[in-house]
Amino acid sequence: MSLSVNIKDLDVLTSNAKQIQDDVLKEILTLNANTEYLQRFLHGSSDKDLFKKNVPVVSYDDVKPYIERVANGEPSDVISGGPITRFLRSSGTTGGKEKIFPINDKYIETLRYLVALFSLLTSKHFNDNDAKKGKKMLFLYNRSESTTPSGLMVALASTSFVMSPYFTNPPSKSNSYYTSPDQVILCPDNNQSVYCHLLCGLSRRDEVVGVGSSFAYALVQAINVLQIYWKELSSNIRSGHVSKWITDLNCRNSVSAILGGPNPELADMIEKECSNKSWEGIITRLWPKAKYFECIITGQMAQYIPTLEFYSNKLPIVSTIYGSSESLFGINMDPLSKPQDVSYTFLPNISYFEFLPVDHEGDMASIVDLVDVKLGCYYEPVITNYFGLHRYLIGDILEVTGFYNSTPQFRFVRRKNMVLSVEIEETTEEDILKASARATLVLDQSTNLMLTGFTCHADISTFPGHYVFYWELKAKDVNYVFQLDENVLAECCYALEESFDVFYRKLRSKDGLIGALEIRVVQQGTFDSLMEYFISQGGSIGQYKTPMCIKSSEALAVLENKVLARFYSKKISSSGLIVYFCVLKCFE
Ligand code: AMP
Repeated sequence: MSLSVNIKDLDVLTSNAKQIQDDVLKEILTLNANTEYLQRFLHGSSDKDLFKKNVPVVSYDDVKPYIERVANGEPSDVISGGPITRFLRSSGTTGGKEKIFPINDKYIETLRYLVALFSLLTSKHFNDNDAKKGKKMLFLYNRSESTTPSGLMVALASTSFVMSPYFTNPPSKSNSYYTSPDQVILCPDNNQSVYCHLLCGLSRRDEVVGVGSSFAYALVQAINVLQIYWKELSSNIRSGHVSKWITDLNCRNSVSAILGGPNPELADMIEKECSNKSWEGIITRLWPKAKYFECIITGQMAQYIPTLEFYSNKLPIVSTIYGSSESLFGINMDPLSKPQDVSYTFLPNISYFEFLPVDHEGDMASIVDLVDVKLGCYYEPVITNYFGLHRYLIGDILEVTGFYNSTPQFRFVRRKNMVLSVEIEETTEEDILKASARATLVLDQSTNLMLTGFTCHADISTFPGHYVFYWELKAKDVNYVFQLDENVLAECCYALEESFDVFYRKLRSKDGLIGALEIRVVQQGTFDSLMEYFISQGGSIGQYKTPMCIKSSEALAVLENKVLARFYSKKISSSGLIVYFCVLKCFE
């Protein structure tokens, strides 16, 4: 990446998006012209028009055989003109299937560039731009890597980043902004790691100005761990000794050095705050100088907005970057925007970006360039990267919300294939999020409970099929006796159904083809167990995204084993019928 990390360069970049995109495509096609993959379509040419005409738009299954050949030891130029030095494993929680993607150092360098750029933007807004002004408590994790048959490393993007010299040995030594030493971040045991992150963060509480993770779930999980371990954490701080179960020596020694010796005053303060009957605002009580959360909070992660707000007395949640294992895309230029309003500005020098308008799946002629997308329209990104993916469909749906100079900005709408359906209706991630926000209002108004995690599933094992929502609930006050009120939960079921679209409501009310929606309340800790299940399949806390809909029977079994109670919607909405007839009238 030739540009340095400063805001002026960002203006240059976003003002010349068209030219930069054309240059990027030229560079990629020249680099890859003689690969086996591109030869078939371009016969050595790097012409843009020919590329648009001949190179097909593809999904993972189309390129998998080429990727696997390189992974199995054939030369990189089967697919990529540049060297392939490692593979990224996508976290597998979004689409269900695990995929690997070829990359080299350029990907990690781009990620470093985005992270540094984003840090610069947040520092400007929160005025914490040097180590003297404070530290960030970041819950970053490492995850053991595997290798391909040819000996190349396969790791998650987050792991590849924290293991790289860009992170462990940065030119600016910006790591000193973090409360945790590298040894804690790099510890391969995530349980020891999260405990030590908390211990370091608590020891340095007066310096903490920001609290973050890659994706929001890791923050919620850290708060859960704090709730379980606060007595042990404060006892470690009181004595100055790290618990014996922290057996990773590098981690242990580095944390001991940070504790520095017994600190009974700090231990008293932690015990006082954590034994308070309400945990509302615990983050700002323990870390009074914290000004913001920093993590990806859009898309599937949006379900955690109320939880993070509750624990922090509504600290701003700054959503950071948008990216995937296939390519990085862009950053949130306006760190202060509310999570619901966040848009990401694509950076034109990362990959060549094209866009397939939603509902034009079969019509490749409708694909447009980055600078030609239209405000308010919905698209799926199609990327051509430096490492061998050409016109690859990402599977996310984005909406164009504006332009930063000449570069479009996009709101993340949903994953394309994440839909609930028992009949012909399609209930998307976005619908589910909106409906859940409405149902939690009912919960909020009538109980002392909060929803700390959810996912759902279309159960078609019986007729009529119905939607099942798995809800994990927690009392807002620690001493509150956990009670489930059948009427309130039935109302929550109804609120979910009421939010779904006219097709759902018609199939439910008029045709009886969808059965009553069900909420299954699960034990506390169930969503941590679900995460552990996905991690055992190759994921990592750092990159984990709770799936909004569950299709895998193994993951469902994790939830089913923890069901405490079941509630059904008791009413059938008549508005489904009315709205349906109104829609029909409009088409007459
Ligand atoms: P992975 O390759 O496993 O890291 O997963 C990448 C996927 O995570 C993307 O295709 C998106 O579906 C999701 N994702 C990444 N960044 C964001 C973001 N800022 N907002 C919403 N979803 C995101």
